[in-house]
Amino acid sequence: MLRSHILLLSLCFCGIFVLSSGNASVLLYNASRIYTGRSPHESVEALCSSSNGTILAGGALGEVEEICKEEARLSSSRVRSVDAQGHFVFPGFIDSHAHLMELGQALTRIDLRSAKSVAEVVELLKKTQNSRLRQKASLFTTAQKTTIPSSSESAEWLEAFGWNQEIWPGHQFPSRYDLDGAFPDTPLWLKRVDGHAGWANSKALQLVGELPEEDPQGGEILRFPNGTPTGVMLDNAMAFVESVIPPYSEERKQEFLRAALAECAEQGVTGLMEAGVQNKTDIDLYLRAVDEGWYTIRNYAMRGAAIDTPDAKMIHTPDGLLTVRGVKFYLDGALGSRDAALLEPYNDDPGNRGFLFYEPEDLLKEMKKWKDAGYQIATHAIGDRAVRTLLDVYEVLLNDTAGEDVDLRLRVEHAQIVEESDVDRLIRLGIIPSVQPQFIGDWAFAEERLGEDRAKARGYLWRSLLERGARALPLGSDFPIEKVRPVEAFFNAVSRRDRNGKPEDGWKKEEALDRFQALKGFSSDAAFSHFAENTQGQLHPGFWADWVVMDRDLLRCEEERLLNSAGAVVGTFVGGREVWRNEERWPSGAGARHTRYIPDVVNYV
Ligand SMILES: [Zn+2]
Repeated sequence: MLRSHILLLSLCFCGIFVLSSGNASVLLYNASRIYTGRSPHESVEALCSSSNGTILAGGALGEVEEICKEEARLSSSRVRSVDAQGHFVFPGFIDSHAHLMELGQALTRIDLRSAKSVAEVVELLKKTQNSRLRQKASLFTTAQKTTIPSSSESAEWLEAFGWNQEIWPGHQFPSRYDLDGAFPDTPLWLKRVDGHAGWANSKALQLVGELPEEDPQGGEILRFPNGTPTGVMLDNAMAFVESVIPPYSEERKQEFLRAALAECAEQGVTGLMEAGVQNKTDIDLYLRAVDEGWYTIRNYAMRGAAIDTPDAKMIHTPDGLLTVRGVKFYLDGALGSRDAALLEPYNDDPGNRGFLFYEPEDLLKEMKKWKDAGYQIATHAIGDRAVRTLLDVYEVLLNDTAGEDVDLRLRVEHAQIVEESDVDRLIRLGIIPSVQPQFIGDWAFAEERLGEDRAKARGYLWRSLLERGARALPLGSDFPIEKVRPVEAFFNAVSRRDRNGKPEDGWKKEEALDRFQALKGFSSDAAFSHFAENTQGQLHPGFWADWVVMDRDLLRCEEERLLNSAGAVVGTFVGGREVWRNEERWPSGAGARHTRYIPDVVNYV
């Protein structure tokens, strides 16, 4: 019986995947609990994943081990035993709304915030440039090295952010000449800490060419008394420089991607829904990384409606690491910049209701094209007017397919402010709200923008969406807007408190999720929201072997341990492959040091 079951699975997989005998089957055991993610209580003693990266069996160790051995024999692979050493295992976190390449950029950009003077800025830049050049040199073979220019300068742009003259002696704006001595040939573009000013050296200005005499609308070119530009530009004037900076080199983009993947792995994020790739070529880079074997996340990468067209091809790599069949629209802005579209004016800016990025009929026309091409549609809508307009448009799309056997799973991204009558409508239409628990950190300024009553009545509805019948409540971080910290987000979701623990009783606590709802938000609900409910988000046969190993029990530990969660993730597996391990807290090959397994197991072998 057991054997025929395994054979059946192997046959199924053989048809779809090319089995590589180089991959091992993985036997995971000796955890305090291995939560399957199917119910708050279901756990198994051991898991086996096959060499193609999917889970083959879960249950009692003895039986699972037998199955694992047989699978290894059938697929000519070996069994890799992974001793969880008493840690806790959960389905890997799936971030339902995030930006992968932007995360890489944020992680690798040169940070000038610590510089206390112009001299320190120059020193930081010099250090970074030297280490980049060294890195580059190490990529060349010895023979090629002789051709590398010996100069320590490069013509590639160097960008940085974070300078702040307010913390320097004299508090004066800097100038191009402060940089020219150390960087005569490298164009520099350095953004101020608030993003509203940029500072260029003379090389950069030379590439920009002649600047206009007049300042542009909403911007300023700072000048010396004789009229020469100082190199500092404010707001809209920054575009003069930014428009001539060439797109990032392939090398730099690889650097972004590697940094982002490493960060996700370290935080236990095994999957994400990328809410609009910023560049069409990013997808080519992802494909190359998949091919080369260093793509370590399961990405449902949505195309950006503004930069792509519905005839763009859909992608699903056989290892399930990259899926492209979604598109992302933006319908409004954000509360911070007061351009989220509201039904009534801003409390702190009477007369302003924000604005919509599309006329509804234009949006509908665009969306129809994508829908007809088979794409799933996700739309950024933060304000209650944006949400209502979106529901109007979505309703037409849904009526379009009425009677057909299709499930569009239309998504509203953020759904931060939703008017009461729209909650039921959203649910009735089967639209999926994708929300970000970390955004609860904005509770104080949400009250400023909306007034406390409106904020509390319409803001950050989570539990009521679920309890009134939402099909799923996928959770995300919107990284790099927020940090990649799923455990901390878990805290926000269940406590309605921000990362400082405020407000102490939770902000509108009745909207808090329970622990299992939060777990589902980062696993099975997230999977459902992009049609992956049969392959992701659970530790169950047939699902991808994506799991996170933690030093604490997310479902049962004290709430404060969710907040103070640095180091909580000790290991991350994607498709049965270990993509990250904290050697200190979970040493490999240490043997069975702990045996804390709590034996109320479920067998489903
Ligand atoms: Zn976003």
